[in-house]
Amino acid sequence: MKIVVVGVGHCGTKIADVFCSSGYSSLAINTARQDLSWLNFIPTENRILIGKSITKGRGVGANPLKGRDSANADIQDVYKKVKEVGSQDIDIYFVSAGLGGGTGSGGAPIVAQKIKEEFPESLVVGIGVLPLAIEGDQAIINSAIGLSGMNKAVDALILIDNEKLRSTDEDISTAYENINKTIVNRINTLVKFTSMSGEQIIDGNDVKATLSGFGGIATIGYVNEPLNNVKSITPLIEKAIKPDEGLYLDIDVKTALKAIVAISGPMKCLVASEIFEALDFLRKTMKGHQVFRGIYPKPNANHVEVLALLSGVYRSPRIDEIIMFAKNAAVNLKAAVIEAEQSLYDLLKDGEELESFYA
Ligand code: GDP
Repeated sequence: MKIVVVGVGHCGTKIADVFCSSGYSSLAINTARQDLSWLNFIPTENRILIGKSITKGRGVGANPLKGRDSANADIQDVYKKVKEVGSQDIDIYFVSAGLGGGTGSGGAPIVAQKIKEEFPESLVVGIGVLPLAIEGDQAIINSAIGLSGMNKAVDALILIDNEKLRSTDEDISTAYENINKTIVNRINTLVKFTSMSGEQIIDGNDVKATLSGFGGIATIGYVNEPLNNVKSITPLIEKAIKPDEGLYLDIDVKTALKAIVAISGPMKCLVASEIFEALDFLRKTMKGHQVFRGIYPKPNANHVEVLALLSGVYRSPRIDEIIMFAKNAAVNLKAAVIEAEQSLYDLLKDGEELESFYA
């Protein structure tokens, strides 16, 4: 498959940088000059500073509207660079962004929309990262704005929940780094399956068919189990498609339209009746009833791998929670600003009268 990755904002460009280190053509777009210089792998000529006239290269201060304006202001520069690394025969343009900030949340939808308009034969798939709960109300509001923008601009939106992938004893940098690697590894594994031979295979067109659509939510589950622990393939498939185990995000599996399940391991583990029963259960559970399957015997493997891509999902308890919280928080924060302004004014308004002391 031919893939180009375009990262927008700090988180988005860090993810694109990891893709670049795995050999994918990648671009970095940001409003903060310093953040662009922080990257390790994306060549400097593929790093684009946007919104200089608005932010002077200092970032948007977590304001998605400034992120959007910055992307709009320099969208031609972005397009010129995308055209240099991409073309009409790219299968998928991934546009990655952290949705809790400003540049990614506001800018990524503009970039995705431009790519969609200029390369109509290619898919544009968003990779959106949801903030940690501890990041506070504004990050949640931003992510609700970013989700809405991305939904309108992309064919599918792969969502990653920072909260879900964080393990408690890691510091934040290590946690982010590990999450970014996990995202890239899962997509890389999916792409790898499309070029492998097998008993039944998934190809690039199956991946495109699964991810094409209306901006629905997509999520990737993955299980990799040492051979010694595998008594049956069934629990591994169940784990890969269960929101609370293998997947990045709490979704309602019943609302998925399409899926890909790819399984690899030694032949003795790939028991046909177990695989068909588990996939049939998934097919019947999903609203769309469409499951592409790949079965890849690997005689010498000492692990069994199961990857599950679910897409066209339209319900997720976590998204419901974010939207509800964002709506309340936006009202409360606005009220808090008005109350603060008024209280301070009331407290200090007699200052001028005190000047009479010196008169
Ligand atoms: P922007 O540059 O204005 O788009 O904002 P950032 O990318 O700095 O932050 C957006 C959100 O992305 C934050 O709220 C964090 O949740 C998340 N984030 C920042 N850096 C990383 C990272 O390296 N990995 C992951 N998974 N999340 C990150």
